[in-house]
Parts: sequence; structure tokens; C-alpha cells
Amino acid sequence: MTAVNTEVTALLGVYSRVGPLFVAGEGSELVAEDGTRYLDFVAGIAVNALGYNSPVIRDAVTRALDTGLIHVSNLYRTEPGEKLAAELTKSFGGQAFFCNSGAEANEGAFKFARKWSGKTDIVAFSGSFHGRLFASLAATDRPDYRRPFEPLLAGVRIIPLGDRAAARAAITERTAAVIIEPLQGEGGVRAVPDAFLAFLRDLCTERGTALIFDEVQCGLGRTGTLFAYEQSGVTPDMVTLAKPLAGGLPMGAILVSDAIAAVLGPGDHATTFGGGPLVATVALEVLRTIAEPEFLADVRAKGEAFGARLQALAKRSPHVREARGRGLMWGIELADGEIAAPIVAAARERHLLVLTAGPNVIRIVPPLNISRADLDRGATILEEVLS
Ligand code: PLP
Repeated sequence: MTAVNTEVTALLGVYSRVGPLFVAGEGSELVAEDGTRYLDFVAGIAVNALGYNSPVIRDAVTRALDTGLIHVSNLYRTEPGEKLAAELTKSFGGQAFFCNSGAEANEGAFKFARKWSGKTDIVAFSGSFHGRLFASLAATDRPDYRRPFEPLLAGVRIIPLGDRAAARAAITERTAAVIIEPLQGEGGVRAVPDAFLAFLRDLCTERGTALIFDEVQCGLGRTGTLFAYEQSGVTPDMVTLAKPLAGGLPMGAILVSDAIAAVLGPGDHATTFGGGPLVATVALEVLRTIAEPEFLADVRAKGEAFGARLQALAKRSPHVREARGRGLMWGIELADGEIAAPIVAAARERHLLVLTAGPNVIRIVPPLNISRADLDRGATILEEVLS
């Protein structure tokens, strides 16, 4: 039995933590205090792309520690951050800024958009999740997360996803940035049609607005290409990244086009820890591993086989409305009136960890290097739970 933790600890109660106390991890499994192994389709919410106890990450951490440099101020030069920036911008171009989380990356991108455009406002979309700070929360379509903290940043509008007329009306001469997840995560694992992304690209270019793709969850190999936007044929002005970037160490990044980089100079933005030598050394190895064409092809192949199983399940289970996803990011939308939380709990009872994405979607974001056998094992448990 997995218990819901009811004890009060010294940790602030902003999370409803469930299940056992985890003490170790190996590959795609977490190990509880009593030795029970849990197959992990959560992966730290799309963070642990290379699984637990990865030799790539262990070696990188050790190598970084051997230099004696965990942190050096951004007032000085160090090699790992410079190399990482070069590697990350290889295909996108432009320059990179490093920070410590996804929300922080989006907040920075909004500032950069304002300086570049000389405008103030932001447009985001229904179902969005961009973080929990004042600007990123203002662009997040979760009224329950927002309400207690209002007023948030002014001048932010959330419009229906895919609605061209609403976009034409909302994206005006005052709009500094449009932010969108090419594949929404928290909002229910929903891919944005390529044609809508292309439409936004044209509109933003016409209005002098920066187009930001939030790839904090869907980027860095998750959908089977290094960046999710590559599959759409649409290139944004900025890409925000975080979650898997440094293999579980906190790190975010903003990739910035040459035109936007050109208006930013010393003093415009900063963060003490951003891109320090330890996190950057680890991120460089994570990135090199994920960016290998064979690694990405494997993510696509595993995702297709796994997704086909979920879609077959959707056809035969009365509890499932639809299974949708790309690469190793999948959502199972439940039938009308069904809620995801009890399904997540039932899977946990069978030692499989999955997530929700909104009230009625089960979200699956396993390590990208998960074995086919582990994917099959998890799919079988999901089939049992949803039958
Ligand atoms: N953007 C997206 C798409 C996310 O999924 C998340 C987190 O789930 C964030 C931003 C915020 O990232 P963080 O929790 O690192 O601040």
C-alpha cells in the first residue's frame, strides 16, 4: 500500500506529496525506503531525460568537481558555459542566456522582448503553463494558481488557442511578445497545429512582436527532435528551455535571435547562479547525448510504438477518450466525467508513477533513454488500470 503522507514536516505545505519516501534511483526506476521499485513515467516532470544514476551525468559531475569550480561569478569567463552556449545555438543561431528554471527563463524572455520591441504587452493562450512568477503566472491559464496572487503583471492577455481572429485582435502594435508551447504540457498534452504556429510567426513579424516558444517541457529531445519547433518548420525569435537541460541540476536557458541579442548589453539582465561551471558541464554532456541523431531516432521509434499501444487502448476502453502525443510525451484524455487523480493513484498502487495534466488527462513523460521493455511494462499496467 502506498500511503498519502499526512504528517506535517518542516517543508512548506505547497505540494500535496503522496506515496513513499524515495531513497534511490536506477535507470527508469525509483526505489522506496522499503526497497519497492517504482517504474517512473514522471521522470521528475520531464526532467530526468537520462534516467537515474546516469553514468553520463555522474562522470560530468565528477569532472566538474575535479576542477574545484562549482560556481564562478558571471563577472568572469569560464569555459563550460561558453561551450554550452555554442552547442545550444548551433542550429537556432543567436546567443544563449542561462538561468535557473523555466519560469525564470520566460521572465527573462519577456524582458528581452520589451527591450527589443519597445512595447509592453504579452499574449498567451488557453491551456498554457509558463511558470509561477509574476509575469510567467500572468501568462499561465490556470485561474486557481493565479487568483490568490493578483494583481499579476498588467498587459497580459490569454486568448483561445488556435483562434486566428482572436489572435489578430489581441496581437496589436502594443504587443511585445507572444508566448506559446508548441506542445502544451500541463494544459493537457496538446500539440498546436503547425499552421497556427506559422500564422503566429507571420503576424508577429508584421506587428514587430517577439515570438517566444516555451520548450521548457517539450524541448530537448522530448518530442523526438532536439527542439520541438523543428517539426513545425516555424522558427521563433526566442526559445526557453529548462527541465532536462542539466540532468536534474537546476538550469534554464533563453535562446535569443541575433536581432534581439543585438539590443541587449551589460546590465540588462543577470542572475547570480546562471550557467555556472558545474551545471554547464553537466548540461553540455546531456545535450551532446540527446542531440545524437541515433538517440533522437530511438525516442521517435519508442514513442511511436508506445503511442500506438495507448491509441489502441483508447479505442477499446470506455474510460478513455483519446491518447495523443509526440515522441515520449503522451497524454491520455479520459472519457467525459472521469477524473485522472484516482487513475494516477491506482497506477502508483501497481508501482507505476504517472502524472496528471489538468483534471482529466494522464500525462506520461518517462526518461528518454527508457528501455522498450520498461515502456511495455508500464503500458501493460496502464491497460490494467484503465480497463
Ligand atoms: N513552462 C512550461 C511549459 C512548463 O511545463 C513549466 C513547468 O512545468 C514551466 C514553464 C516552469 O518551469 P519551472 O517549474 O522550472 O519554473
